[in-house]
Amino acid sequence: MKNFTFKQNTKFIPLVLCLLIYQITKAQDQEFVRQQYTPAEPACVYYADNYRGAHSTFRSQAVANNMSRGSACSSFIVTYNGFTPEAEAAFQFAVDIWANSIESSQPIRINANFAPLNAGVLGQAGPTNFFTSNAPGALPDVFYPIALWEKLEDRDSEDPPPFGNSDSVDISCTFSSTFNFYFGTDANPPNGQFDFVSIVLHELGHGLGFVGLASSDGSEGTIRVGNPPRPSVYSNFIENGSNTSILGFDDPSMALQNQLTGNNLFCNGPQAVAENGGDEPKIFAPNPYNGGSSYSHWDESTFLAGDINSLMTPQIGPGEANHNPGPITLGFFEDMGWSLCASLSTEEFEVADLNINPNPFSDRVFITINNGNSGVYNLDLFDINGRLIKSSGATTTDGRLMMSNLQDLERALYFIKVTEMDTGLSITKKIVKN
Ligand SMILES: [Zn+2]
Repeated sequence: MKNFTFKQNTKFIPLVLCLLIYQITKAQDQEFVRQQYTPAEPACVYYADNYRGAHSTFRSQAVANNMSRGSACSSFIVTYNGFTPEAEAAFQFAVDIWANSIESSQPIRINANFAPLNAGVLGQAGPTNFFTSNAPGALPDVFYPIALWEKLEDRDSEDPPPFGNSDSVDISCTFSSTFNFYFGTDANPPNGQFDFVSIVLHELGHGLGFVGLASSDGSEGTIRVGNPPRPSVYSNFIENGSNTSILGFDDPSMALQNQLTGNNLFCNGPQAVAENGGDEPKIFAPNPYNGGSSYSHWDESTFLAGDINSLMTPQIGPGEANHNPGPITLGFFEDMGWSLCASLSTEEFEVADLNINPNPFSDRVFITINNGNSGVYNLDLFDINGRLIKSSGATTTDGRLMMSNLQDLERALYFIKVTEMDTGLSITKKIVKN
C-alpha cells in the first residue's frame, strides 16, 4: 500500500509543480507593474532667436469663440509664483488656448515661476513625472507624461511618492523675469519684443507631451530613461527617412547618436501625417546634437516663422507670435493618446456626425455616417506605428459601413481611416481593440 501511494505521488507531484509554475508565470505575464520616471531637467530650454520678420498666427475661430464663452474642455489649475499682473494675464491666456484644444477629465496642475534665467533663455518647462500605464488604449511599455497619464487612466495621480508628487503638480515651468516680453494677447508684438503668450503656449506643449526624453554625451545617444529603460510615448511615433523606427536602435549607442543628429527623422503618427497632407512631418535633428532643442521639436527650417505649424519648432524671434498649437501638433497629440476638443477639419469630408461602435471593439466595427448620403467609401485600418493592417471598400445606401474579421488583432490602439471615394477626402479616428 505504501509503495503504491509513493508511486502515485511521484507522478502527481511533478504535475502539480508544473501547473503551479505555469499559473505563476501566467500571473506574472498579466500583472502590470507601473513604473515612474522623474526628470532632473526641463524638456525644453527655449532660446531667443534673431528677428525674422513680423508674423502673427491667431487662435482658431473655434478656440476664440469658446474662450469668449468661458467654456473649455479641460481644466488647468495654475500656481503663480513671482508673476506681475500683466505676465499672469498673458500666461492665463495661453493656458486657456490649451484648455480649449485638448480634453481631459482630470485637472492639469501647473507650477509657474517668473524668475531670472540664463542669458538668452526665454523659458523652460517639462512634465514633473512620467508613468507607464495599462489603461485601455495605452501602450504598456512607454512612459507617459503625468498629465496625459491622468487623462488615459481617467484619474488624478494623488498617490504618495514614489507614484505621485505630494502636491500633484503635472507641469513645472519657469519664464524669464528679465526679458523684454510683449504681454499683449493680440498676437501682434512690436518688432523688438518677444510674444509672451506664444512662449508660454510652446512650453506648455512640452509639458503636455511634446517630449522625446533624448540625450547625448557627444558620441552616444539615448532616448530611453529609467530602470528598466523605456522611451516616452513620443518616440513610438518617430522614424528615419528609411521608415526604420527610432526604437530599433539600442541606447546608449553611436547608431542612435547618428539618428539623433542625422537631420533625417520624421513623425509617423497617423493623425499628424494626415494633417501634413499625407507626408510625415520632420523632426528637429541637427548635427551637432543640441541639448534642450534636438529631437523634441518640429524641424525649424521646415516649419518657418509664420507657418501655422511652427509653434513647436525650437526657435522664436522678436515680432513673431503664434497662438495656435497647429493641426499637425494637435494631430500628434491625438496619436499619443490625447483627445481633442474639436476634431481636426483639414482634408476631412463634410459630415454631421461619424460614429464608430463598439469602441473598444472585439471582432468588428460599425461606422455610421449621419450625413444622409449614400456613397462609396474605403476603410483602412492602421496600427499605432502607421502600418496598414487591413483595407476594404464598401458601398452604403444608409450611411452604415462595417469592417469585420478583426478578432485576431492584438489588444492595442488602432486608427481607422474612412475615405469618401468621390472626393478623396477622409476622416481618421482612433479605435481600441479589446
Ligand atoms: Zn521647446
